[in-house]
Amino acid sequence: MKKIIRCLECGQPAELKFEDRNVVENNKTFHLKGIPIYICKTCGEPTYDFQIELKLEEILDKLMKNEKREYIVNLTEIFSPMVEMTATLA
Ligand SMILES: [Zn+2]
Repeated sequence: MKKIIRCLECGQPAELKFEDRNVVENNKTFHLKGIPIYICKTCGEPTYDFQIELKLEEILDKLMKNEKREYIVNLTEIFSPMVEMTATLA
């Protein structure tokens, strides 16, 4: 993953940040912590990475099969290594 990408709206640099998101699906609540997101420094437009969205769906699908109603999912451990790896290669 890149630390900076080009904003789809205005073409200016968008910086990698981490956000928290609550997802409610099938009467289950998921508290997702540390989702990577690119925020444009100029227009503030958020851009999500397609690979990240896929990974998120995969994680939620797995949890969906459990009985529990509420989950706290710490994504920092999953996504931070991806960010670090690219930084080293660059
Ligand atoms: Zn922008």
